[in-house]
Order: sequence, then C-alpha cells, then structure tokens
Amino acid sequence: MWGRMESHAKAWDMIVVGGGATGVGVAIDAASRGYDVLLLEQSDFGKGTSSRSTKLAHGGVRYLEQGNIRLVMDALRERGLLLKNAPHIVHDLAFVVPNYEWWEAPFYGLGLKLYQALAGKYGLGSTRILSREETLERLPTLKTDGLRGGAIYYDGQFDDARLLIHMVMTAAEQGAILLNYVHVTGLTKSSDGLVTGVIAREVESGQEFHAEAKVVINATGAFADQLRAAADSTVAPMIAPSQGIHLVFGPEFLARESAIIVPHTSDGRVLFAIPWNGHTLVGTTDTPVEAAMLEPVAQEEEIEFVLATAGQYLAKAPTRDDVLSVFAGIRPLVGSSGAGRTAALSRDHVIHLERSGMISVMGGKWTTYRLMAEDCVDKAAIIAKLPARPCVTRDLAIHGCPRGRHDAVEHSGVFSVYGSDAVEIRTLIAANEGLGEPLHPALPHLKAEVVWAVRHEMARTVEDVLARRTRALFLNARAAVEMAPAVAELMAPELGWDDTAKAHQCESFRSLASAYIPG
Ligand SMILES: Cc1cc2nc3c(=O)[nH]c(=O)nc-3n(C[C@H](O)[C@H](O)[C@H](O)COP(=O)(O)OP(=O)(O)OC[C@H]3O[C@@H](n4cnc5c(N)ncnc54)[C@H](O)[C@@H]3O)c2cc1C
Repeated sequence: MWGRMESHAKAWDMIVVGGGATGVGVAIDAASRGYDVLLLEQSDFGKGTSSRSTKLAHGGVRYLEQGNIRLVMDALRERGLLLKNAPHIVHDLAFVVPNYEWWEAPFYGLGLKLYQALAGKYGLGSTRILSREETLERLPTLKTDGLRGGAIYYDGQFDDARLLIHMVMTAAEQGAILLNYVHVTGLTKSSDGLVTGVIAREVESGQEFHAEAKVVINATGAFADQLRAAADSTVAPMIAPSQGIHLVFGPEFLARESAIIVPHTSDGRVLFAIPWNGHTLVGTTDTPVEAAMLEPVAQEEEIEFVLATAGQYLAKAPTRDDVLSVFAGIRPLVGSSGAGRTAALSRDHVIHLERSGMISVMGGKWTTYRLMAEDCVDKAAIIAKLPARPCVTRDLAIHGCPRGRHDAVEHSGVFSVYGSDAVEIRTLIAANEGLGEPLHPALPHLKAEVVWAVRHEMARTVEDVLARRTRALFLNARAAVEMAPAVAELMAPELGWDDTAKAHQCESFRSLASAYIPG
C-alpha cells in the first residue's frame, strides 16, 4: 500500500482522513465507483469509536420514541443490507424488554410492532408479548420480584472492529489505498484558501509527506472539529462529544442467547445487556465530555451507574469483581457545543461542505455507515468535478462474505467471523501445527490468528492484535495482558522485532490495558 501510494504521481480523486466506519465506508463507496482514493488513519483502523460501540446493527428503538421515523427506517434498511452483505459478521439477535409495570407490555409491545413494521422487507422476526414464564425462559437471570412478562423483538448484532477490518480489505480489493499509522498533521491550500491536499506523517518512521487531492474528506469522527479548524480557523465547532461506556462480564449474567434492553433507565437512558462472543456486554452511558481522545477512560460514576442499573434487573447483581473489561467510546454527535443532554442530540449524519472546499462527514451511526458514504461520495464527486457514477454498495459483499463459497465457511467457533478466510487460516495451521494452539485458556483465540492478522490484516502492534483483530482486550483485559508476550513472540519474526521491540510492545500494551481493568 505504501509503495503504491508513493508511486502515485497525480492528485488523488479523493483523500479520506480517518479510518473508522465512516471513513472506510467512504473509501469502499468511492473505490467501488471507480474513483481513485487514498485513506489515512492516524492510529489503527477502528482505534476510535468504531471499535467501542454497543455492536448493534439497529434501527434504534429510542429514535422511534423521539419521532425520528426517517432515521429509524434508513437504519432498518441498512441493518438488512449489512445482514445480506456481511452475514459472517452480522447476525440477528432476540431482545427482550422485561415488564415490571402493568402499562409496559402494551406500550412497548405496540411501539415494537411499529418498529417491526417499519423494517418492511428487511424485518428479522416477529415482535410479540411474552408471558412471565416465557420471559424467564429466555432470560433466566432476570430479577423475578414484580416481573409481569416482557416484549420480544429482533435486531442485528456484530463485532464492530472485525467488520471494520473486513471493510478495509473490501476497500483495498476495490482499488483504494488505505494506510494505518499515518497522521494527517495539516492541509495544503491554494492561494484562494481552498484545500488542495494533506500533509501527513508516517508514525513508525516519522517520515513526512504531502499528497494532493481533488477533494479532501474529513471522516475523523469525534475529532472532526480539529481538522475543520486546520482548514479554516474561523469555523465554529459542530461536534458535541458524548462518552458511553460498557462493562463486560462472564456469560453467567445472561445464560441464554437473548439480550435485555431497558428503554428507560432511572435517568432516562437506554441500557443493554447483550450476549457477545461468549460474554455479557452491559452498557451504555451518555455523558457529555469536553473533547475527543483516542483512549477515553470510563469515569467512576459511569461504572457505578451501569453496575447499579444492571443490579436493578438481574437476580444476581454484578459487582466490580465480576467486571472482566471496561471500555469507553466517544459519540461524534453533531450539535452545538456545550449542549447539556447529549442523549437528546441527533444521531443523524451531516455532510458539511466547508468554505475551504473540504467535506466533513459527521455523526450518524455504525449501522448507517454505508448510507453516509453514499451521500458523502455523491457530494464529493460534484465538488471534485468528477464524472458522476452510481453507487454500487447496496449489493457489494464485504470481504469474507460466504456468498457462493459455502465450502470455505465455518458457521460456528472462533473462525466463523473470518468468513471465507477461515480456510486460509486453517491452511496456516496445517503447515505449522503450533499455530493451532490457543493463546489463553480464558479466550478461544488461536496463535494462527496473530500471524494472519499481521500478514493479511495490517496489524502493526500487539495492541492491534489484542484489541481489534481479536477482541481479547475488550472481552477480558487481564487475560489480554497475559496473552501479550506470546503475541509479541509471534509478531516478532513477521515484523522484524528484536528483544527490545518485543519488550516495548508488551509494556505499552500492559500500560494501555490497565485502564480496561477497573480498580
Ligand atoms: C458507546 C457507544 C455505543 C455505540 N453503539 C452503537 C451501536 O450499537 N450501533 C450503531 O450503529 N452505532 C453505535 N455507536 C455509534 C458508532 O459507533 C459511531 O457513530 C461510529 O463508530 C463513528 O465512526 P467514525 O468513523 O465516524 O468515527 P471513529 O471510529 O472515531 O473514526 C475516526 C477516526 O479518525 C481518526 N483520525 C482523527 N484525526 C485524524 C488525523 N488527523 N489523521 C488521521 N486520522 C485521524 C481517528 O484515529 C479515528 O480512528 C455507538 C457509539 C458509542 C460511543
């Protein structure tokens, strides 16, 4: 990728800054229309919010309540397209709203019926009211005191960082050049103030370079205002960053493959408890924060809030000692800065044409990344004076999609998420049996995944492997720390690390992971 970028002599049709769901979605869209695209990510793909979500491909039951029917319908359609184009990573999941008050069953039952109706042909399953017994059958760990019954509906669930890595590979297959660990430090401008390209620094070597583009697309999520200010120091900020946290517990807190959703917590937020990769994911909060950061840290009050709220609904209230990992993410909500309640701000996306000619694509949701990209590339092509070409991503399979290759696919187990790549990882193990060994007794990952991640998925650090190629850090932070030396050992020959480099990798991972282990 680097070599191809260096030998690219002319201006790019589009340069995308930011390698999260939004930026990579734009790269897929633009490249698959035949435009010439470069994407630069300052850290690893998905290092920002896109690896830290609740991992739901959903229309958003809450947005229905806010009356945002268009957003819900768009998102439900996108959910359907994701299930079609990435069935190896996205699947449907049953959600139960437990009812403790008499009015909840008719109220939520009706709302969820409407939610189902809005999905139309993209519907996943029938919404219905559950008796008390049926509710407990699905959610045996629920608090039984005062439980009247529940309402069940279906939504999509996925592994966010893994989907993103497969999207990076899809974009590359479509001809885009995507580079991680390349920080855009500035913008070049013409004499009349129009952005003509980017100045960037390759993080590992420190090498600086500049690249020209017919249009620069700012897809830096919660960091969008920084690049907007670099393009034009007079712009008013548009992002109102809001932090959400998740706690991860063992599987015993759900015990079945259904999720719990509490649409109204004591302070008016939504709480989810979701089975995820053999664990229980509980979140999330919505706390306005001053500024975006790459490694947001869960605040004590947020941890307390999630524990206390989960304890109101679960027969065995989880405690701090049960927490295997805690992670925080920043929503790139678009609104006036300083807004008090970010839960009420729009989750809609905004495509903003800056006076400098740069396009900022902001807000939205993971679920709607494809639609955001389509809108953004439509506009970017006009700004760049490129020939109009139709969007093709509705029917574009995401890398590894088993469509037509069922022989190569594993439908369960640790390799299922790799789709058609699973067969190639098995080939690595066939050539070297040691690669079939597990990395840790608490998690299902095998050594072969590390080698695969370096050779084929652009993993550059121990953190890349443990946080985003596998999800070890997010599932069990202590186990991830224990895995780090073995991961470094496997990466060393691939990347030419000596003992000092290995030790440095392990130390920096240990230090990062400490924030995922609640004190
Ligand atoms: C707690 C939480 C839960 C959520 N749950 C869901 C959910 O269940 N379903 C759903 O649909 N959505 C969910 N979302 C929303 C969704 O995660 C975000 O909308 C989406 O991930 C945003 O993607 P992005 O690409 O815009 O931002 P990011 O993923 O943050 O990507 C921006 C990237 O830009 C890079 N960058 C910044 N500055 C530069 C620079 N100067 N040079 C190069 N690169 C740069 C950053 O490193 C970063 O990787 C959730 C969000 C949060 C916070």
